[in-house]
Amino acid sequence: MEILYMEPMRKHTTFRTGGNAKRLCLVKSEEEINTIVEECTLNNEKYIIIGNGSNLLVSDKGYDGTIIKFSDDMAEIRVEGENVYVGAGALLSKIAATARDNSLKGFEFASGIPGSLGGAIYMNAGAYGGEMKDVVVYVDVLKDGHKVRVAGEDMEFSYRHSLAEKENLIIIGAMLKLESGDKEEIIENMKELAAKRLSKQPLEYPSAGSTFKRPEGYFAGKLIMDAGLAGYTVGGARVSEKHCGFVINYDNATSQDIYRLMAEVTEKVKAEFGVLLEPEVQLVGEF
Ligand SMILES: Cc1cc2nc3c(=O)[nH]c(=O)nc-3n(C[C@H](O)[C@H](O)[C@H](O)COP(=O)(O)OP(=O)(O)OC[C@H]3O[C@@H](n4cnc5c(N)ncnc54)[C@H](O)[C@@H]3O)c2cc1C
Repeated sequence: MEILYMEPMRKHTTFRTGGNAKRLCLVKSEEEINTIVEECTLNNEKYIIIGNGSNLLVSDKGYDGTIIKFSDDMAEIRVEGENVYVGAGALLSKIAATARDNSLKGFEFASGIPGSLGGAIYMNAGAYGGEMKDVVVYVDVLKDGHKVRVAGEDMEFSYRHSLAEKENLIIIGAMLKLESGDKEEIIENMKELAAKRLSKQPLEYPSAGSTFKRPEGYFAGKLIMDAGLAGYTVGGARVSEKHCGFVINYDNATSQDIYRLMAEVTEKVKAEFGVLLEPEVQLVGEF
């Protein structure tokens, strides 16, 4: 496995911020994951698994432990009729493209989410009426060093949550169930969704997508806009004027800028509307 010491986490996050990880291990197999986890446990060192870093805010102080990231060897995509087996490191965009090429529908919703399969299952990622919950047959995980197969219905999927979070599971792969469809329709659907994203989301700036979860009965972006916070800026971080639910790295932001902006937005929305915004973005390290 490749091991990188004092690795800048801005290279591994879509926010393009964050200090150095003490070490980052690019693992090639479950055995390597188990070895690293055992070693960390023995040495009382903390560790975290990351996917494509598209939902992470890593502290500017970095991460004083081990980051485990999956190499391309753990990103297989294998089509078996209407089922597709996917390694945790595979990008959702690649899975969607493979499904499209094999005339399989049902994964178009995820084609524009810049995450990996592992991160998407962990977060139960979703968009445009679809979510991972709808397509997962089973998930292969490492639990206390053992490989276990968990059925989709036992994954306790809910809005941006799954059993993986609750039980500290390491996702290594999953079987997805798609459906035979018309290739042209799938292509059209993916194009439409991509155009929607492009017109509504500030994709020209680094971000982690929606910064806050959708509070029940509200939309975070609308609350933030109605609080007059479009374009609100702290350091290099800004509330996107195109989509107020996105905090963007507007101009060489630090993670601290983003963190402070999130805190101020939360405070102002609470004061204005009495609604508590909760971060969707996962914080890594000390803030
Ligand atoms: C422009 C943009 C648009 C976005 N649009 C959407 C959207 O429409 N819908 C949506 O839901 N999200 C969206 N996101 C957020 C993000 O892409 C998703 O949350 C995605 O699922 C995160 O996947 P990741 O691989 O990047 O995970 P990471 O950000 O690397 O990690 C997220 C969490 O998953 C855990 N994790 C990752 N891999 C594993 C694994 N193998 N085993 C166990 N735990 C793991 C990490 O520890 C962390 O807690 C968007 C982000 C951006 C930047």
